[in-house]
Amino acid sequence: MAAPRYRCTACGNLTRFDVTATRTTRSFHHYTVGGELQVEETDVLAEHIDDVRCRWCGTGDAVVEMAPEEQLSTVEGGAGADAPPAE
Ligand SMILES: [Zn+2]
Repeated sequence: MAAPRYRCTACGNLTRFDVTATRTTRSFHHYTVGGELQVEETDVLAEHIDDVRCRWCGTGDAVVEMAPEEQLSTVEGGAGADAPPAE
């Protein structure tokens, strides 16, 4: 599931947003014999974006979701959605 990109039409912000979302996920909880938990293979079964706010303006009044063709024309931020988190 690709995350949408947003744009604040008030200040032009493309990169900093507070996104409030409700997700239903299923993951593989892998315990060691000692009871230490490692959560693996998290699948997002459902996702609802509740609120998107511009970090700079502090409100979501002017934030719009970018159209897919609009996203392709912007400089790619290297968003590897399928890549494991680098820690
Ligand atoms: Zn803004």
